[in-house]
Amino acid sequence: MEKIKTKLIAIDENYLDMDKIREAGQILKEGGLVAFPTETVYGLGGDALNPQSSGKIYAAKGRPSDNPLIVHISNMKALEKIVTKIPEAGRKLADAFWPGPLTMIFMKSDVVPKETTGGLDTVAVRMPSHKTALALIDAAGGYIAAPSANISGKPSPTLAKYVAEDMDGRIEMIIDGDVGIGLESTIVDLTDGTPTILRPGYITLEMLEKVLGEVNVDKTILDGNSKQAPKAPGMKYRHYAPKGDLTILDGEQVAVRDEINRLTKEQQQKGEKVGIIGTEENMPSYEADSVKSVGSRGDEDSIAKTLYRILREFDDEDITVIYSEGFSTVGMGQAIMNRLLKAAGHKIIYVS
Ligand code: AMP
Ligand code: MG
Repeated sequence: MEKIKTKLIAIDENYLDMDKIREAGQILKEGGLVAFPTETVYGLGGDALNPQSSGKIYAAKGRPSDNPLIVHISNMKALEKIVTKIPEAGRKLADAFWPGPLTMIFMKSDVVPKETTGGLDTVAVRMPSHKTALALIDAAGGYIAAPSANISGKPSPTLAKYVAEDMDGRIEMIIDGDVGIGLESTIVDLTDGTPTILRPGYITLEMLEKVLGEVNVDKTILDGNSKQAPKAPGMKYRHYAPKGDLTILDGEQVAVRDEINRLTKEQQQKGEKVGIIGTEENMPSYEADSVKSVGSRGDEDSIAKTLYRILREFDDEDITVIYSEGFSTVGMGQAIMNRLLKAAGHKIIYVS
């Protein structure tokens, strides 16, 4: 791949510098790629209606081209042009959660190239709430295709320095700014009967049920043994993987702590460099080469925001074996455990 010069700029979402936004928008209009902050994680943006731009996104990420991209819009009028129909459920969810960390799947119209949707007749759409992202979408002509701004298989970046680590030399520009949640958007499929969660996120099952009544959850989300193929093509790939070999320990809290310490010693004796991901409460009882707190048990916002950064830090520290506490799977815990299980290749040990 040809190496290109990557320009790094910073934009404060509370004081938008419109000259910088226009410069970034121009790059996108000309078919280039710009990474930008959103309220979930950093996105790797290209013009969603330009098939060449989508091709460049797949190349920059090393992403399989059957894994469709999410199209980002800034207003409801823009939605009408790219879908054939907006079902009632879609209007209700847009009213309740847009702009915000919710992606909906619709039947696509002809203006959306198949390159953007990985060959599918459906299109994933989100209206983000991040002010830099919204301004950039407008400056780019209204439609930005943007997967997470990481090399395929690595944890999604929550800091600009991790975007640069993966994308320097591959894209035209990186916009530094703050991301909020730290996990990718919730994805809901509206094309096939009862609305179904394909990927859990900040907008939880409980929140969706309040608006829609019945909502299904794709079985593959927490079940590593499911024979079924996940409906979001991207969910089948091993994702979010740290370099170290990650195992989750779940069950009664004291037993989990003791077992993590025992396994850590065992691995250190074999010469492994061990990292632990634990909750704040348990920090004093752990000993390893690197011990990191994801925040207080129960403070899901902090756990979501910290998790990917910790996985990246273990990579920087050349940690070879990682143990993590497990988390509750209700509310946003479902999204956290889904990402952790994928990072661990579904290696989980239950202790009591
Ligand atoms: P990322 O871009 O890294 O946030 O990943 C986007 C996710 O959305 C992947 O898991 C995709 O498989 C999923 N996705 C995008 N478009 C569709 C679609 N039309 N139908 C089902 N899943 C989709
Ligand atoms: Mg991703």
